[in-house]
Amino acid sequence: MVNACRPLSLEEALVMRSREATTVFAGGSDLMVRYRQWSGVTPDFSGTVLFVGHLPELQRLDREKDTWKIGAACTITQILQAQGIPDHLKLPLLSMASPSIRNVATLGGNICNASPAGDTLPMLYALDARLTLQSRDNARTVAIADFITGPGKTILAADEILTEITIPPGDWPRVYYKKAGTRRANSISKVTFYAVARFDGDRIADIRMAFGAAAPTVVRNPAAEALLQNIDKNQVPAWLETLTTHYADALRPIDDLRSTGKYRQQTALRILAHFLRRELA
Ligand SMILES: Cc1cc2nc3c(=O)[nH]c(=O)nc-3n(C[C@H](O)[C@H](O)[C@H](O)COP(=O)(O)OP(=O)(O)OC[C@H]3O[C@@H](n4cnc5c(N)ncnc54)[C@H](O)[C@@H]3O)c2cc1C
Repeated sequence: MVNACRPLSLEEALVMRSREATTVFAGGSDLMVRYRQWSGVTPDFSGTVLFVGHLPELQRLDREKDTWKIGAACTITQILQAQGIPDHLKLPLLSMASPSIRNVATLGGNICNASPAGDTLPMLYALDARLTLQSRDNARTVAIADFITGPGKTILAADEILTEITIPPGDWPRVYYKKAGTRRANSISKVTFYAVARFDGDRIADIRMAFGAAAPTVVRNPAAEALLQNIDKNQVPAWLETLTTHYADALRPIDDLRSTGKYRQQTALRILAHFLRRELA
């Protein structure tokens, strides 16, 4: 039997979370797979299942000046359909799962699941997203890179809920996203790459690049990004070898049933080369 609670407000959810061991359940698209048993048998949850996907406090999606504030229980479909959502936020979401999964899968769930292959994560790292973690008596804001500590591991405390994701302002005329998977829909990524850039004439004014599924957590290398600042975009291919060396050390993917680590690392570096030679320059 599953013990479950459907609170009427965020406050009620936080009180519940402060009192007993709970499993936060948003869309359930990761949890139902993680705790599945044989067909027809109830999933094997430990502790009380705390439903949060319906809470209006977690479904706000606001633009404050140029900062986007996205409630943790906003589904991928809701974000894609929100008015004015810029392309740099949309692109990775469009190739995530299938439309039916996107209707239940939440952004907060993708983050808290902390899979190295989570498709929203490279974008959130590259854009310096910040997360609001709330408990009954406290709220704190942390950078996403500090929140995820390893595969399936985060700093979320047992009495906290991720309530909001904040995307700082940024005008990114160049956006690139590549997902290598077995097929287009419903495939878990073998490796992903997300990049944004802005220019001042032909010079690169700012560039951010992040790899997913290529190490225990998303790989972003500010030192490598800094090498490209102020470079004429047509000169970028000359930096390819140096950049490859920078990233080759950081890209440490695993072997698993979907791919070998070697394939993942080579593919990641090829995507980087393609982006720098063909898409950016
Ligand atoms: C068929 C299929 C295809 C998929 N394809 C993809 C894909 O292409 N790309 C991809 O990245 N993922 C994919 N997924 C995984 C999944 O859909 C996503 O990770 C999704 O975003 C998870 O969101 P959710 O709301 O369903 O999370 P849930 O399953 O509800 O929760 C996931 C984890 O996050 C925790 N959690 C959720 N919300 C909160 C919160 N607000 N505060 C604190 N903890 C919270 C839960 O306790 C749990 O540990 C797929 C899943 C399936 C079943």
